[in-house]
Amino acid sequence: LPRFKVAMVGSGAFASAVLQMISQNARDKAIFQDIVDVYVYEEDYHGAKLTSAINQQHENPKYLPGVHFGDNVVANPDLESTVQDADLIIFCAPHQFMHSLCKQIQLIGVKPTAKAISLTKGIHISPEQGPQLMSSMIHRMLNIECSVLMGANLAGEIGPNGLCEATIGSRVREQGHVFQELFDTDYFHVSVIPDIEGAEMAGALKNVVALAAGFADGCDLGQNAKAVVLRQGLSEMRQFAKAMYPNTVRDETFFESCGVADLIATCYGGRNHRVAQEFAKQRGRTSFSQLETDLLNGQKLQGVLTSEEVQSVLSSKGWQNQYPLFSTVNAIVRGRLEPKDISRFRELPGLSL
Ligand code: 13P
Repeated sequence: LPRFKVAMVGSGAFASAVLQMISQNARDKAIFQDIVDVYVYEEDYHGAKLTSAINQQHENPKYLPGVHFGDNVVANPDLESTVQDADLIIFCAPHQFMHSLCKQIQLIGVKPTAKAISLTKGIHISPEQGPQLMSSMIHRMLNIECSVLMGANLAGEIGPNGLCEATIGSRVREQGHVFQELFDTDYFHVSVIPDIEGAEMAGALKNVVALAAGFADGCDLGQNAKAVVLRQGLSEMRQFAKAMYPNTVRDETFFESCGVADLIATCYGGRNHRVAQEFAKQRGRTSFSQLETDLLNGQKLQGVLTSEEVQSVLSSKGWQNQYPLFSTVNAIVRGRLEPKDISRFRELPGLSL
């Protein structure tokens, strides 16, 4: 029987965390080839190459030190030889890099029978195509089916001693189940749903709500206020997802790991929350890009860019007032309101944004 060759594009903290499950399943399950190739953007790591460090230590010492994956993982700085003959391609790069990665892969070409899955949480806005989810961008540019895996998955907590869930959204049932075989372990429980757009929208939009939660915490607004922000945020996430994809997004998706659970994990323990909290504490004396540099050790922040992307859709459709929390977050991001004004989102449209 043919065995699927697995490749991954991306090597940040979350990519390194999921390599624990993927490397174990690739080795243990006969439907996969043992070796998992990973495209790693080459960087200097203490005077050596990051790929060499990963291949020697079987962990990513820069982005997720101390978390080991199998020695069947091979870090490769060359995108072409990583993806060219792969059957299953996992995309797990920050969303700001995905369009250019897809362009490079488009030139290389992938197997026409290859299947993709995106773990990237974000939206791409193109002048020609408008707002696009990562899965539709991958599908459109590479002409292969693309599923998604989203969930309450803080990278540093994923591992054999943990308890964690994730949701795969897949239009093709069998494809969803192959990816479930690849990710599911006794500490990482994966369910499969047909609602790709709902799962992926939830994964992208919760990063905007996490900024709101960070502003509330940074201004010491208290737990009741934070709960208001989370409730309103979840409501706007569902409303926006359904407005964008009225025929496919389902209410029940927001009760899966990719919905309310990811929102909670991110608003209590994620990087977007942490940076927004610090931004609020410093009362505008710093910028998000400075905080990203200072606090995230080379990792990328998603929420600020996603807020801008979502707001461009809201403005173009005249929907700002129907999404008061999203719009207030964006006004804070743009410096038109202060972080403490997150508690005033109800005043829209009276607030001058
Ligand atoms: P952050 O990017 O805010 O850390 O989000 C983490 C996350 O997506 C958990 O599921």
